[in-house]
Amino acid sequence: MGKIVIAIDGLSSCGKSTMAKSLARNIGYLYFDSGAMYRAVALFCIEEGLVNGQSIDTEKLRNRMSDINITFEADPVTKASVTLLNGRNVEKEIRSLQVSRIVSLVAALDFVRTGLIDRQREMGKAKGIVMDGRDIGTTVFPDAEMKVFVTASAEVRAQRRYDEMTARGENADYNEILHNVQERDHIDQTREVSPLRKADDALLLDNSNMTREEQKAWLMEQFNRISKKC
Ligand code: C5P
Repeated sequence: MGKIVIAIDGLSSCGKSTMAKSLARNIGYLYFDSGAMYRAVALFCIEEGLVNGQSIDTEKLRNRMSDINITFEADPVTKASVTLLNGRNVEKEIRSLQVSRIVSLVAALDFVRTGLIDRQREMGKAKGIVMDGRDIGTTVFPDAEMKVFVTASAEVRAQRRYDEMTARGENADYNEILHNVQERDHIDQTREVSPLRKADDALLLDNSNMTREEQKAWLMEQFNRISKKC
């Protein structure tokens, strides 16, 4: 049984990362969060003063792309994968609502996507990976052996994100989160470059009414079925 590439795409906040991480752990694969890379670029824009309200200084960002180095490493204590921006752990900062507000604008820029997609393909060369995002099964790895497209209603997704933030002790406003989720869906689905869509050969998973355990079992079943043939 050879190693395969697993692409998990879907709408914002539908639990892709949680599912992808747990699948990778169970089957001994590496996990890559492609959204974290777009979030790190968005954080760079905020910190370097390239954001003005809801607009990005595109030309300045284009010239600064070579100053952005995104890497991942395992947290020494929790062993969870953390995102580094130019060597600094930014795992917490990239999850802020400030970053969420502009990340889809950054991710719609063709030169940002081209740069990050090259790095993502590099990570998948040796196979044995689970990568989650918006265009993994359509653009990054169109030949991935297993593709999953995850959806859930906007209200369910906003509630999950709200619960996550309040559990971390952060201030959260449900309506603001719901608005952000809907806005990101819209930008991601209508952008010109690599819009979010289900690949024709992706398995559809609507997890609105599923527990984490049910999702985990479903994914394992699909993995066992597909990898047997590879
Ligand atoms: O997955 P996450 O919500 O952290 O991703 C943040 C944003 O990054 C998404 O809303 C989307 O705009 C962008 N993204 C993307 N392509 C990917 C992963 C994320 O455009 N492969």
